[in-house]
Amino acid sequence: MFDNFKRLLQGQASQVMIGALLDLVLPESCSACYRPQKGSLCEDCLSEIPVEPRKGPPIPLVDETFVLAPYTEGLQRILRDIKFREMSLLADRFGDYLANQLSEPPVINADLWTVVPLYKTRERYRGFNQVTNLFQPLINKFGLPQDQSILSRVKATPRLFQWNRSERVQLMESAFETNRSLNNSHVVLLDDILTSGTTVQTCAKSFRDQGASRVTVITLTYKGELA
Ligand SMILES: [Zn+2]
Repeated sequence: MFDNFKRLLQGQASQVMIGALLDLVLPESCSACYRPQKGSLCEDCLSEIPVEPRKGPPIPLVDETFVLAPYTEGLQRILRDIKFREMSLLADRFGDYLANQLSEPPVINADLWTVVPLYKTRERYRGFNQVTNLFQPLINKFGLPQDQSILSRVKATPRLFQWNRSERVQLMESAFETNRSLNNSHVVLLDDILTSGTTVQTCAKSFRDQGASRVTVITLTYKGELA
């Protein structure tokens, strides 16, 4: 009898059961500091991420760029968890925080707000586009005009870090398509992490090809030094 029980404990089924049991007794932990925390982000960590729009770096074909929060270690951990552990609820929660921290949108009177889209197989795999989750509360709070269907990613592109700027631009060429005329519109493009700017530059090119007169980029954070 005891031997049977031991064998059961060593089996795979019991491992799964023990895992489920641990999930029940141990609370969730904060994505940024790993301390036990229900709801995956603690107030201390949130308050350490100041939200304040600052002018970002110049990017070809983009009129102005705003960076909303500094690239702190805590924010990096949050964004990593959202992307690689597929935590859409964490993205929602951080999106709410972002909207609450802003008393006005960084840009007023733009015609259209939209996010950098994922390639469709990637979005299907992840189940959500994290940029939409991060910015939807802000769009809702200020009643901003949005259209999340104008831009699509028509080409899967490799990770860009190993290429130089002109190679990146070439790789990204025609990766995005804008599906309608944007005659004289001011378009705001939203992204989570700005690095070299090649992705948003390619999107801006596609907007301009459809007649957009002004393109503003708003990014949650920027992996580089701000002036
Ligand atoms: Zn924390």
